[in-house]
Amino acid sequence: MSKNKIWISPPHLCGKEIEFIVDAIEKNWITTMGENVSGFEEDIQMYLGENVEAVAVNSATAALHIALILLGVNQNDPVICQDFTFAASVNPIIYLGAEPVLVDSERQTWNMSPVFLEEAIQDCIRKGRKPKVIIWVNGYGMPAKIHEIEEIAQKYEIALLEDAAESLGSSYYGKKCGTFGDIAAVSFNGNKIITTSGGGVLLSTNKKYVREARFLIGQARDKVPWYQHSQVGYSYGMSNIVAGLGRGQMTVLENRVEARRKNNRFYQEAFADVPGIEVHIEPDQYYFSNHWLSCIQIDSSQTGGVNCQTLREKLQESNIESRLLWKPMHLQPIFRHCPFYGDGVGEHLFNTGLSLPSGSNLTEKELTQIVSIIKETCK
Ligand SMILES: *Cc1c(COP(=O)(O)O)cnc(C)c1O
Repeated sequence: MSKNKIWISPPHLCGKEIEFIVDAIEKNWITTMGENVSGFEEDIQMYLGENVEAVAVNSATAALHIALILLGVNQNDPVICQDFTFAASVNPIIYLGAEPVLVDSERQTWNMSPVFLEEAIQDCIRKGRKPKVIIWVNGYGMPAKIHEIEEIAQKYEIALLEDAAESLGSSYYGKKCGTFGDIAAVSFNGNKIITTSGGGVLLSTNKKYVREARFLIGQARDKVPWYQHSQVGYSYGMSNIVAGLGRGQMTVLENRVEARRKNNRFYQEAFADVPGIEVHIEPDQYYFSNHWLSCIQIDSSQTGGVNCQTLREKLQESNIESRLLWKPMHLQPIFRHCPFYGDGVGEHLFNTGLSLPSGSNLTEKELTQIVSIIKETCK
C-alpha cells in the first residue's frame, strides 16, 4: 500500500501475527483446521462472553449465507434486511433464491427503523407471506436500536440475524455486538476494525446452529469412512494461516477500539465550531460504538455550497481517501425491484454524508491535516 496516501481504514498489525503464522508453517498445519483456527475461535468467545460460540469462516458474507440456511430460509421466502448497508448484507438472501424486503434507517443510529420494520412485517403478513428472518446492521460500528428490534421480532416470532460485520468492539446497554440475535456475523476483511486479510466468524449461543454450521462449512460430509453427502455443502472454513493473523489481532482489539474512538473525539472537537458539519455520534451513554468509520453529514446550505462530493474530491487531491456513505440498497440497480419501506433517511444520508479516514494507525498530524483541508474548503 502507498505510504504517502492516507487510507480510510487500512490494516494495522501489531507484530504478534507473524509468530502464529510461523507456528502454523512449522507444524505444517496448512489447512482449514489447526491450533490457530481453534485458538482464534476461543479468543473471540472469551472476548464476547455471554456463552457465545464462534465458528471461523472465510468471510462474513459466508457467515451470513450459512446463518440464513440455519434459520430455515428457502426459495421465495421474504427476508427483511436493513436498506442502508453494504451489499454483502443482502446478497446471501439472493444466493438462496429468497426475496429481500428492504427497511429504511432512523436518524439517530442510521440503522434499521423499528417503525418501518413493523410496517414491513405487517404488510408481508397481510399478503400472506410472513418474513422468515430480520437482518439488521450496526452500521459504521454504531449499535442499532436493538431492544426495539428484538421486541418486534419476538412479537411476530421472526428469527433475528445480527450483521455485526463492522461492530466488533461495540456494545449496547453493556452487551457486546456480535452476541445479539439468534445468530450474528463479524467480518475480518482488510478494512475492518481488526483483520485476517479476509475472514469472518459466525456466532451463536445455540449449540445446534453451531454444530450445523461446522458441518455445512466443511462440505457437509456425513460421518462415515467414505465421502458421502446427504446435503449440499460449502467450502467456507477459515485457513489456519489466516487464523494466525486473527490471534495476533485479538491481542490488540481493545487498543484498536480506543484508537478509533479517539479519532472520533478528535473530529467532534475539531468540527464543533464549523457550521454545517455534524459528526455521527452515539445517541446516549447506552450506545458504545467502536467508531469503525467516523462519518460526517454536510449541510451544504451552511458550507457555501460545499457538499460531500466536493469534499471527497478535495481530500483526494491531497491523496486522502474518504468515502460517500452507503448507497441504499433500494437504489441499487440489482435490488431496485425489491419491496422497500421507508421515508428517505438512507437516501438523505447517502446524499449528504462522508466517511473520513478512521484507521487505528492515524497520527495526530494526519488528523490535523484532514481537518484543516475540510475547514479550509468549507470556509
Ligand atoms: C464488510 C461487511 C460485510 C462482508 O464482510 P466480508 O467479510 O467481506 O464478507 C457484510 N456486511 C457489512 C455491513 C459489512 O460492512
